Amino acid sequence: MVVKLCIEELPYRKAMKLAEMIDAEYIAFLVVEQREDKIVVKDIILPYQEVTSSSCEFDEKMFSVITESKNINPEEIKGWLHSHCDMSVFWSATDESTIKKLGRRMPFVVSIVVNKKRDLKARIDLFRPFRITLDDVEVEILWDDSDLEEELKREIEERTASTPSILSADISRENT
Ligand SMILES: [Zn+2]
Repeated sequence: MVVKLCIEELPYRKAMKLAEMIDAEYIAFLVVEQREDKIVVKDIILPYQEVTSSSCEFDEKMFSVITESKNINPEEIKGWLHSHCDMSVFWSATDESTIKKLGRRMPFVVSIVVNKKRDLKARIDLFRPFRITLDDVEVEILWDDSDLEEELKREIEERTASTPSILSADISRENT
């Protein structure tokens, strides 16, 4: 069984930008939706938190404050993301205990760790009806380039209509 985690373009870009902008570890919650056999991260929410360079600890207050203030349905939150800043991506002992804490309120927990180098590691922990950890799940970013595709399609048609060789000519010139 291959379990794939999909991340929409916006939350992926937000996660990487936050990792770039915050010179410390930060935690964000994941808004997750199940679409047929896919698990999709739709958004990330940055809670109020104390950020330090070495660790970021989850507490229950962090969760209730953000869901109450932003009118978020807590049931939509099924995971968390954090940054390791300049360190590599792995699961620390603190991360393991965070996952356990979140498992008390979520049926499954999606965990993502990123860093400033844009490395990304993801896992899914199932707590009920039994405990299972799927580490290093395959991740697909759902790039939304439909606008670009339309634009480029028009450009290709326009540029290649009268001089059909323009695309390949450009490529061969770049290669020399
Ligand atoms: Zn960590």
